[in-house]
Amino acid sequence: MTKAELILDAQHINKTYESSQGVKQEVLKNLSLAVAQGEFVAIMGPSGSGKSTLLNILSTLMQPTSGQVLINNKDILKMNDRQIADFRGHDMGFIFQNYNLIDSLTVRENIELPLTLQKIKPIKIAEAVKMVVKLLGIETLLNKYPAELSGGQQQRVGVARALVHKPSLIFGDEPTGALDSENAREMLYYLRKINLDEEISIVMVTHDAFSASFASRILFLSDGEIINTLERGSADRETFYRNILNQLGTFN
Ligand code: ADP
Ligand code: MG
Repeated sequence: MTKAELILDAQHINKTYESSQGVKQEVLKNLSLAVAQGEFVAIMGPSGSGKSTLLNILSTLMQPTSGQVLINNKDILKMNDRQIADFRGHDMGFIFQNYNLIDSLTVRENIELPLTLQKIKPIKIAEAVKMVVKLLGIETLLNKYPAELSGGQQQRVGVARALVHKPSLIFGDEPTGALDSENAREMLYYLRKINLDEEISIVMVTHDAFSASFASRILFLSDGEIINTLERGSADRETFYRNILNQLGTFN
């Protein structure tokens, strides 16, 4: 794999939290990972293993203590605030476990947000929203407020917002964690579809083997280190799912 084919290249990431009493906790330990363009990577691991910390660092939401992160060959840790805002508005989308919609804005306004922040022309914004809501089947929800929607509907709006600016990479932190199994399954099929059809790379954190079985590669995180990886290869999803369960079984 040449550097040019990588969408994400993170090297020697360390993160240490320090409590107000001055107690230090090393949460990520010299962690390196690379993601090729078009990959769907799942990061698994027990609660407290550092998954969210890692994802937040990879997605510009948090700074590591040391290390380097390149996305689309851009050094995201060397960017100023304006460059970071630009990067978030062009290159990446983020899907949150608890949707993180803004309650005081309508569905339409929530989805438009990445574009209005970029000062895109209203006509272009309207076109982009139209396309993405059609893709997600949420045309009828545009004038509603988040509080009027079910969890499954809110997460579709969250995905629409992550997609509307056509990013090359989407991050998800337990994106199906708050959904019932039927909505979770639907969301996972959807993520797989945009990964394959739109060639959007995905890096998704999950503690759940079923969700992870939709990915093309799985990284197992334990205590701030990647301790194993599993490639889907040509296996069908059911077989991959059983392989993941076996793999998890060997850790316990
Ligand atoms: P995961 O997502 O795998 O559950 P996290 O990355 O959220 O793990 O947390 C890893 C460890 O870092 C945990 O022990 C957690 O308590 C600690 N931690 C997470 N965020 C912070 C923070 N902002 N300040 C201090 N400690 C934190
Ligand atoms: Mg987490």
